Amino acid sequence: MAIAQKATPDGDLLHRYGLVLDRIERAAAKAGRKGQQVVLVAVTKFAEPEHIIQLVQAGHRDFGENKVQQLLQRAPMIDERVARMRALGAALGADPAAKPEPIRWHMIGQIQRNKARQVADACRLIHSVDSLKVAEELQEVGLKRDRPVEVLLQVNCSGEAAKAGCPTPALLHMVEQIHSMIYLKLRGLMTIAPDSEHPEDSRPTFARCRELFEEIRTVGPVGREFNILSMGMSNDYEVAIEEGANIVRVGSSIFGQPANATDELDQ
Ligand SMILES: *Cc1c(COP(=O)(O)O)cnc(C)c1O
Repeated sequence: MAIAQKATPDGDLLHRYGLVLDRIERAAAKAGRKGQQVVLVAVTKFAEPEHIIQLVQAGHRDFGENKVQQLLQRAPMIDERVARMRALGAALGADPAAKPEPIRWHMIGQIQRNKARQVADACRLIHSVDSLKVAEELQEVGLKRDRPVEVLLQVNCSGEAAKAGCPTPALLHMVEQIHSMIYLKLRGLMTIAPDSEHPEDSRPTFARCRELFEEIRTVGPVGREFNILSMGMSNDYEVAIEEGANIVRVGSSIFGQPANATDELDQ
């Protein structure tokens, strides 16, 4: 651990990670909740594998990817390293920091239907189900392995035409459809606010999503396991927490901005 924290870039990483945790704690307190009630998903789309390992060593468990290919390339490799760290830590009888918990991977981006099985196998939670087709594909996966796939329904709460997510007028119907698939476990909703520099601009979108979430819990066919609200990114996660998010997805505030401003991992 001492070695890992010595070099400056790594120190910066853990420093930024600590700041995000502090800000989550404060935003939660402001909303009358506890920081531990909010799960931080560290979004690794621009992170180096080494940085992921460093956060694992710092005790972090939840990581998110938005590209299927990168998830499928990296998750097995990193999971294996974590497993080795665990084995070694156990052999040495080391403190818990040297014996990290297995990673929980979150899929937060669009899923191609033909990749549904691999994504479901690699992930603990899929945040980005937004069509019946993908839902049906995942239902097949769950059926084959005889274990439900846990999903969130992504909702387009801002009404932007180009945005992914189920349109709000179709939401209740989609919830009913997914609920009827017994090998899918619908855990809640996910949304993305419109692009803006000002965190406050996201508030109406998050408030709307929270409203829909509560409405479904009241009148929908869902059970107690429908209890996750995934919203908020680097720019607006504090606003999201104030509006009821219990999962936030934060990338650049932890790992830094990508070196190249264009999204070269696209395609
Ligand atoms: C990239 C991404 C994030 C994290 O974005 P940052 O602004 O880097 O925190 C969160 N959610 C989704 C769906 C993403 O694609």
